[in-house]
Amino acid sequence: MTATLHGPTRSSADHQELLRGMLEEQFAVHTARLTQLTVHARHAGHDPHTLEALIASTRERIAETAQALRRMSEGTYGLCLDCHKPLPLGRLHALPHATHCTRCERRRTS
Ligand SMILES: [Zn+2]
Repeated sequence: MTATLHGPTRSSADHQELLRGMLEEQFAVHTARLTQLTVHARHAGHDPHTLEALIASTRERIAETAQALRRMSEGTYGLCLDCHKPLPLGRLHALPHATHCTRCERRRTS
């Protein structure tokens, strides 16, 4: 593969590739964690409620990450689901599975 550099500024495609890598890594991490939690669930000595909560939140993370990867393949990734404006790159780098801009997010949670 020949690497072609387009100068010091990253194109949005480069950002998308970077974010896709982050999402795929997150997906792998959470999937491994879920497997681990499920294995632990078979052993005695673990608080079943804590374990259940951990499994539920891990499943949620996996779903969020999978949805973000799907939006990426559909070409709708990085757009706010409410106002359809592009999310700032800083927000996506901090939260690659973000679905809403900070303004809509605040409105939704308030
Ligand atoms: Zn918005």
